[in-house]
Amino acid sequence: MKRDIRSMTPEELTASLRELGEPAFRGKQIFAWLHRGVRSFDEMSDIAKPLREKLAGIYRIDGLRAARKQCSRTDGTVKYLWELHDGNCIETVLMRYHHGNTVCISSQVGCRMGCAFCASTLGGKIRDLTPGEMLEQVIFTQLDSGLPVSNIVLMGIGEPMDNLDNVLRFLELVNHPLGLHIGMRHISLSTCGVIPGIRRLGEMDLQLTLSVSLHAPDSETRSRIMPVNRAYDAEELFAACHEYFQKTGRRISFEYAMIDGVNDADWQADLIVKKLRGMPGHVNLIPLNDVAESPLKPSRRVRAFQQRLERQGVTATVRRSLGGDIDASCGQLRRKAMESEGVNV
Ligand code: SAH
Repeated sequence: MKRDIRSMTPEELTASLRELGEPAFRGKQIFAWLHRGVRSFDEMSDIAKPLREKLAGIYRIDGLRAARKQCSRTDGTVKYLWELHDGNCIETVLMRYHHGNTVCISSQVGCRMGCAFCASTLGGKIRDLTPGEMLEQVIFTQLDSGLPVSNIVLMGIGEPMDNLDNVLRFLELVNHPLGLHIGMRHISLSTCGVIPGIRRLGEMDLQLTLSVSLHAPDSETRSRIMPVNRAYDAEELFAACHEYFQKTGRRISFEYAMIDGVNDADWQADLIVKKLRGMPGHVNLIPLNDVAESPLKPSRRVRAFQQRLERQGVTATVRRSLGGDIDASCGQLRRKAMESEGVNV
């Protein structure tokens, strides 16, 4: 089995190349090529042919192929359905915000978290993505669109905390000065509330933004819509969030998809206020995206809920929905492709 070279750090590459009798700078040179999106060793024009051949015998360079691409006519959002080397498909979304172009990347093929409102989890988890595959989503989205990417959100298909080793290595790669060099402050990681992962990230004290998919402040409701709550319940989750804030001093962003008659009552807003006391949280209210397979419907109380939070001192914004005309959310394009064209998953 050849080694997946795009998942390697410059230090690992250098060490590995030294074993082949190559000088130290060669590792850095190859790393830079890989992060510019080459698909074969032959594209590395300043590496001698015999070495390129030797490398091709030891390592493999995977790449993504655009199986589908959809461009929103209204807001410039571009959604990619990428095919991986093994035929599996994942989604990446490019959003054009005032503060810069942002890519939303997937961390797994499918998801095993089972949230009731989410299309990504309907077929379960197929496999984890490698660090290189997460990186490739950023690289190839940038190359294909011709738009420079300045921000990354790990909010696509998959649960990042369920693949945390690979996610952390991806962060190291994408942050590296010889590669894309995207700063931690420009990266957000979203979790459905896997507490050991939140703790581990807190210990590392990175400068990224942690987003927690809250969706209900009370355990009863939360367990109904998010099975993860049965393992790590809301009380423990709030405690872990307070602890995270104390360790890192960083404000957590709470995602809250507003579902009609499920999590949009006044008492639930009041409970959020109570649970966030002592911590500068930010609540991001998301109008629920209607998923065809789900009986859950969008709430009509988004503004009232927002005002109730704000009046009690909790910052709450309503997420602007982008790409509504192109199924740009939460595994919807992959689902559709699976159904209509039998795309491999
Ligand atoms: N697994 C991670 C990241 C991926 S989901 C997590 O759960 O945070 C990114 C965000 O989209 C999460 O907050 C998720 O709960 C939310 N989401 C999923 N389906 C949705 C839907 N139909 N409408 C609105 N938000 C949704």
